[in-house]
Amino acid sequence: MIVNIDGNINRFYAQTLCMVFFPGAKFAEDEIATENTPIVDLIQRDTDEGCYAKATITIGKKTVTCEHTEPYSETNVKIKTEKVAVGVALFKAGEKFFRISPSWGILTGVRPAKIARDLLNGGLGLKEMKGILTKQYFVSPKKATLLGNIAKNENRIIKQMGDNTCSLYISIPFCPSRCSYCSFVSYSTKRLLSLIPDYLAKLMYEVENSLKLISELGQRLIAIYIGGGTPSILTPDQMSMLLGVIKENADLSQVKEYTFEMGRPDTVTEEKVRIAIEMGVNRISINPQTLNDAVLETIGRNHTVEQFYRAYNIAREAGIECINTDLIAGLPGESPASFQKTVDEILKLRPENVTYHTFCVKKAADILKDENNVYSPFDPNVGKCVDYAQVNAKNNGYIPYYMYRQKNTVGNYENVGYSLPGYEGLYNIYMMEEIHSVFACGAGAVTKLVSPNRDTIKRVFMPKYPYEYLSDKVTEADIHRTYDSFREFYDTHFKEK
Ligand code: SF4
Repeated sequence: MIVNIDGNINRFYAQTLCMVFFPGAKFAEDEIATENTPIVDLIQRDTDEGCYAKATITIGKKTVTCEHTEPYSETNVKIKTEKVAVGVALFKAGEKFFRISPSWGILTGVRPAKIARDLLNGGLGLKEMKGILTKQYFVSPKKATLLGNIAKNENRIIKQMGDNTCSLYISIPFCPSRCSYCSFVSYSTKRLLSLIPDYLAKLMYEVENSLKLISELGQRLIAIYIGGGTPSILTPDQMSMLLGVIKENADLSQVKEYTFEMGRPDTVTEEKVRIAIEMGVNRISINPQTLNDAVLETIGRNHTVEQFYRAYNIAREAGIECINTDLIAGLPGESPASFQKTVDEILKLRPENVTYHTFCVKKAADILKDENNVYSPFDPNVGKCVDYAQVNAKNNGYIPYYMYRQKNTVGNYENVGYSLPGYEGLYNIYMMEEIHSVFACGAGAVTKLVSPNRDTIKRVFMPKYPYEYLSDKVTEADIHRTYDSFREFYDTHFKEK
C-alpha cells in the first residue's frame, strides 16, 4: 500500500497506524499504484487551536476523509499531541471506510499495559484510566477493562520485586522441525542441528561469566528463563551440563522463578523433566497451540494432540510447580467451535499458566509462500475465539497478568498471559514491562539494562544467527568488552541512586 505524508508525522508510526486497518500491509517506497492499491494520505499542521490532522483513505473509486484537531495540553508533549491528532483522523477515516471499529483503537505499541500502569501510577483511579483509554485512544471498554486488570496485577507483582534485582535469559534457537507459520530464527535442519554441541560450549562460557558479572554488580538474580526455539531439544546430558553451570554460579535460593521451555511436546521425556526439576527449574512451558490434529498438521507443527497429553502428564506426575501452555487463536483451518473445545480441554487440566496468542504471520513465514494457504488476515471469527478464551479463563479462576501486542495479528488482537492466583509468570512481567535488567546470553539474545528509576534503558544485541554467534564475531574478548560497558552503565546509574 502507499502512504503519503505531508507534515510532521513519523513514517514508521503512520505505517503502524495503517496496519490497524490493513493487517499484513507492505510499504514499498517505490510502489506504483494499481487500481486497487490502498492509498492513505496524511496531512499534519500546527494551528492556533492545536494540532490539525487530515487522513484520506482511497481504494479504487472509494475515498473517505476525516479531520481532527487535538488541542495542545500542558500534560502532553507536542509530539504526543501530533501522534494523537493523526491517529484520531486516520482511525475515524478507517472506521467510516470499513465500518469496523478495531478494539485497540489507536494504541499501536507492543506494551499497552505500560500506558495503563503509567496512568494508574500517575494517580488516576481505574475508572478515570478507562475513560482516557476509551475516549482519547478509542480502546473498546472491554479491552480497557482487561488492561486495567492487567495493570493492577502487574503493579502488585512489581511492588514485591525488591531493589537491585535482575533476570537472566538464555537462548536455545534450535527446534526439531520448523512450523510453517514461524518467522523466528531457529535452526531445524540436520546440518544446522549439528552445531548444537559447539553452540552449547560457547553459551555455557557466556552464562557462567554473565552470572559472575551479575554477582560482581551486586544484583540479585530472581528469574531465569531458558527459551527458544525449543530448549528441550537438548539431550539429557546437554541439559545437565547447561543447568549445572547455572546451579554452580547462581544463588538459586534467591531465584523465585526458573523457567525451561519444553515448547514442543515431541521433545519432552521423563528424564528431561526430572533433570530440570533436580537442577532447580520450577516452571516449564509445554505448548499444544491447539488440540486439533488436523490444524496441527496444517501449520506443520509435527506433533499430535496425544503427544501433548503425554508430555503434560509426564510433567504433572514429576511434580513440577508450574506448567504453562500456549494456545493460538486464529490458526489456519481452526473454527471457533474447535478452538473453544481446545480452551475447554486445556482449562480442565488446570495448568498454572495459560498464554493465549493471536495468530501472527510475519514476512518470513513459510505459510505465506504457499499459494494454497488458508490464512486470512481479516478472519471475523478470531474476535469470538479471543473473547471465549478470556471469559472462560476468568470463569475458571484465572487472572490476566501480562500482555503484549504484535503487528500483523489476525484481526489486530492481543496476546495475554493468564495464571492461577500466585502463579503469575514473573519473568514475563519483568521483561515486558522493562522494570529491571535482563541479562541475555546466546544467539539473538538482547540484554536490557534498566536504570533504577527506569528512565534509561540500554539494549545490547547478540548476533541473530547461531553461526554468527559461533564465528569470530563473538570472541571471549568481545564478551568481556561488552561486560565493561555493562559495568559502566551500573557505575553511572546505580551509584547515582
Ligand atoms: S517450535 Fe516454535 S520456535 Fe520452533 S519452529 Fe515451531 S513455532 Fe518456531
